[in-house]
Amino acid sequence: MAVFNQVDFDNHEQVVFCSDKESGLRAIVAVHNTKLGPAVGGCRMWDYANDEDAIKDALRLSKGMTYKNAVARLPFGGGKSVIIGNAKEIKSEQLFRAFGRHLEQLGGRYYSAEDVNITCDDVALMNKETNYVLGLEGKSGNPSPFTAYGTFLGIKAALQHQRGDQNLSSVKVAVQGLGAVAYGLCKYLHEAGARLFVTDINQQAVERVVNDFSATAVGIDEIYDLDVDVYAPCALGATINDETIARLKATIIAGCANNQLAESRHGEIVREKGILYAPDYVINAGGIINVYYETAPDGYSKMASLEHVEGIFTTLTEIFARSEKEQKSTHLIADELAQEIIKNGL
Ligand code: NAD
Repeated sequence: MAVFNQVDFDNHEQVVFCSDKESGLRAIVAVHNTKLGPAVGGCRMWDYANDEDAIKDALRLSKGMTYKNAVARLPFGGGKSVIIGNAKEIKSEQLFRAFGRHLEQLGGRYYSAEDVNITCDDVALMNKETNYVLGLEGKSGNPSPFTAYGTFLGIKAALQHQRGDQNLSSVKVAVQGLGAVAYGLCKYLHEAGARLFVTDINQQAVERVVNDFSATAVGIDEIYDLDVDVYAPCALGATINDETIARLKATIIAGCANNQLAESRHGEIVREKGILYAPDYVINAGGIINVYYETAPDGYSKMASLEHVEGIFTTLTEIFARSEKEQKSTHLIADELAQEIIKNGL
């Protein structure tokens, strides 16, 4: 099976294939880079069409974590794990404990946490066999409020850069997806005086934000056409694509969703169109920053965590300024910054 010649192979330090006959576990752990510290990144459970797709996902996502952790200035490297199979069918205590034993064998080179289809309860089962897990219930707690705070500060940083004024009163923001992070984001925005236009496939989530924050509900597809200042993608990936860029009137894209650009070239297209894009992995790092404080030498501190999250404003300001100076898209500048931090240290 090909690994070293995969397009997504980027000199990953280690790729481990894990199996357990009794529980049916089939998993891959990819440790991309541990220069800044142990590799940290969530575990995803997915019914991949084939093993190659699972390897590709693990390689791509683990590299993303190296960059995200570096730009967030965390003493963490990047890693990710994938468990192959349908989450509705294969989950069992046996399976997660078997995975935990594999993590234990890695000796702390990689710490796992939640990701798609993996809950706190699943991680707690891994924890019965290993301490190399993070994000457990009762420790740093739910990361979403920290991600929301970082995203709010990111929107302010974008306004400050573009308009020389971060005041949100009467700034119009279109929020797509009203889940755990976006609800907190809408609260911050509302309290700061912004006007909210919101959508979600879940009608209850829409009603809650309409009632709590005087938001205006709009259609699922209508969100791209609104005459607003900021488009905040907080649901799906790949919503910045050829079709939507042509429709967007917002001059700022800043939201918490992962993998917002359908393809890398879309980052350059939005720049050419005069839209300021806050790179996703920079603006949405609040949650992983909070998780880090579980491992901080002085123990978890909410205050220290929030202070660190506030650094997202400064980091984005630096990225925006470099992007303008070098006439290069913000997502490429973010990647360059990550590479510099990995090379030179925190
Ligand atoms: P969530 O599942 O709580 O919320 C997602 C919301 O999007 C749901 O309400 C869902 O109904 C809605 N949605 C799904 N498809 C939609 C569509 N087509 N149009 C409109 N709404 C749609 O997730 P979350 O934890 O709030 O995370 C949101 C995004 O932020 C995800 O992309 C996630 O990967 C990313 N993220 C989250 C965190 C965190 O701390 N939770 C950290 C970093 C990144």
